[in-house]
Amino acid sequence: MADDLRQGYRGRIAPSPTGHLHLGHARTFLVAQQRALDVGGTLILRMDDLDGPRCTPEFSAAAIEDLRWLGLRWHEGPDLGGPHAPYTQSERMPRYAEAFERLRASGLIYPCKCSRQDVLRALSAPHEGEEEPLYPGTCRPASPCVPAEKRDGINWRFRVPDGGDVTFHDGHFGEQCATAGRDFGDFLVWRKDGFPSYQLACAVDDALMQITEVVRGADLITSTFRQLLILRELGHTPPAFFHCELMIDETGARLAKRNHALSLRTLRAQGRTPEEVRRLILDV
Ligand code: GLU
Repeated sequence: MADDLRQGYRGRIAPSPTGHLHLGHARTFLVAQQRALDVGGTLILRMDDLDGPRCTPEFSAAAIEDLRWLGLRWHEGPDLGGPHAPYTQSERMPRYAEAFERLRASGLIYPCKCSRQDVLRALSAPHEGEEEPLYPGTCRPASPCVPAEKRDGINWRFRVPDGGDVTFHDGHFGEQCATAGRDFGDFLVWRKDGFPSYQLACAVDDALMQITEVVRGADLITSTFRQLLILRELGHTPPAFFHCELMIDETGARLAKRNHALSLRTLRAQGRTPEEVRRLILDV
């Protein structure tokens, strides 16, 4: 690890409590913990619970319990507090609202009436594997302007710099580059249900919690480009990034929360020890 990354290292693990954690999450979190431990850094637990009714307090509590059982330890978090409390996203709304207003003032976000179905219909070839389809620009104003609409009740998108390259050095995968408007389009920053998108909440929290390195799954590399644009617009120095390989099951499919057999809960109920589970993770 480069010396400048060692200095005051702050990493984070950020589960979404939409179900029980599985081996894939556990592996990413163990890598995150190891990278923090290697340099005597600080590890933060953040609960990413903005995904509407899918997130429950029961899953949050279960995640904390399962992570502790597996041997993960953090220095700041919902259960421990810390200088950047609260560490649960649903309790941090004023920070996201403030970031939203700053983006509004910059003229780079706009309200959008399109439903996800509209967006998909307008695309001749949906981008496979993209968690957010390339937006065709239906509601995008001709030039940046400061919209006066009320924030809630409508979706808001970030206007990406078309044709502009966004690059970063990934600690695991090396140089990464994506072209705005081609590899990803105008993306959601605020949802009509009154909550920030994952992209906005994550970028704001990583900045305010002074995270120096983000360790997470490779499926979020495309999100990193979007978050870099938000961070730049808000004037924050971006953290370093280290994306981990995703775990796959015996059929070659990515592990998901629906693979109950591989949830930490199930393995634990079957009598596996934390050491056995850690070994399983290193074997696959
Ligand atoms: N909460 C997100 C997830 O579980 C991860 C967020 C992140 O690491 O940036 O998929």
